Amino acid sequence: MKTRFAPSPTGYIHIGNVRSAIYPYLLAKQKHGKFILRIEDTDRERYVEGATELIMDTLKWLGLDWDEGPVIGGPNAPYFQTERKSIYHKWAQKLIAEGRAYADPTAPDIINKYRQECTDKKIPFLYRNFRPTDTPEWHEGLPLRFKSDPKPRKWHDVVMGDLSVGSEVQDDIILIKKDGLPTYNFAHIVDDAEMDVTHVIRGAEYLSSVPNYLALYEALGLEVPILVTLPHILGPTGNKKLSKRDGAKSVVDYRDDGVLPETMLNYLACLGWNDGTEQEIYTHDELIERFSLERIQTSGARFDETKLLWLNGQWLRRLVEEQGIAQFYPRTEGFWPDSAKAYDAKYRQKVFAIIYDRLKALSDLRTMTSYFFEDPNIDLKLIIDNKFLKKFSENELVDFLQQSVAKLQGTDWDEKSLQSALNQLLETTTLKPAELFSLIRIALSYAPFSPALNLTLATLGRETSLARLNSTITALANA
Ligand code: GLU
Repeated sequence: MKTRFAPSPTGYIHIGNVRSAIYPYLLAKQKHGKFILRIEDTDRERYVEGATELIMDTLKWLGLDWDEGPVIGGPNAPYFQTERKSIYHKWAQKLIAEGRAYADPTAPDIINKYRQECTDKKIPFLYRNFRPTDTPEWHEGLPLRFKSDPKPRKWHDVVMGDLSVGSEVQDDIILIKKDGLPTYNFAHIVDDAEMDVTHVIRGAEYLSSVPNYLALYEALGLEVPILVTLPHILGPTGNKKLSKRDGAKSVVDYRDDGVLPETMLNYLACLGWNDGTEQEIYTHDELIERFSLERIQTSGARFDETKLLWLNGQWLRRLVEEQGIAQFYPRTEGFWPDSAKAYDAKYRQKVFAIIYDRLKALSDLRTMTSYFFEDPNIDLKLIIDNKFLKKFSENELVDFLQQSVAKLQGTDWDEKSLQSALNQLLETTTLKPAELFSLIRIALSYAPFSPALNLTLATLGRETSLARLNSTITALANA
């Protein structure tokens, strides 16, 4: 078993593409086969500097190590198509020799004229209907075209099932462009054969070209590999293909937002595949064990960022609980608010320990923890308009806070003592927990939510906590 991921370095890997890396990887690992990374860089107009590195970084981040490909090499090196030109030319010569390919001297404006004629007559444009009769010997600088042999074709696709077409869609496709480099259509067939790829797993955008590929395999005398077409990933509305316009971000953008690679691999693997159970959380090794081509669904799968973030929250909890705070902590680097820099790792670990179970992405640390590192801006509206507090007058609120300060002042500053002091305050003030605790919580943080109050107090420390309660007392008294 040999599978491959064959990206074109035309930009970043977006969510819609990366599944074409995950499934071949899982399959190869499961069957103890090989997973190849091949860089399809023959379209020089769309080539983007640095894209190959970005692709490799993304794969490594997801834990999809390739067995053959750039950097590590392999028996079929090189793995960049631009470095394999002589191989494509060798195969092209075979087609030329057998009369199955021809050099095309037709100028582009003439081709456009043919195309326009067809548009005007409302008939499909097929180049074979305009095949030049007098063709020169092929040399670099002239496009090389396939001489198609249209006929009905049947094939099997592991996901799409038994498929068939009539002759109408097969055409004289370009094999080698004017610049001497092959088209995707030709190069991937040659490479998959040279590299002994057994399973071609790719997106649905290639499905309509398969009849042309079948004709090429036949003309080249090659066995057709097992074809696996992945259904589209649909945008949030579920009725069209996910596009950059729907915010189809790069995989790396999610990494920078604090989505964990464990989540991303899990989420994308399950986008259009399931193992028939209700399980939602899969480790890398479980995916390898459970994956099967037969359970890839035929219809498009909807990309749902809310679900992705939910899953990330689950993974965060799981990893922190498995590894412990100290071991997980280095993965939070870079996600803290700037004000956290003034504090040591020990204090940040304390903050992380009480808040991690509320995070969806690590970048939430930036917005959700700043009050642990700097005094929040007092915004009395948050208190006065709070649904539990709006029935009290400012004087009453001041009184509750003063009672709280008085009680907490004499309390040992540990989680347990703080909890019992808070419970006693409930009795003496006769307030409900939602009332008293909202008041103290807002006065400490001015944030939409915070961890359990005793934990927040314990982490902030006596001095900071009391100073913040006093500042709010002063502000309310002067309001
Ligand atoms: N280079 C093609 C792409 O990036 C690969 C398609 C394939 O997997 O064969 O879409």
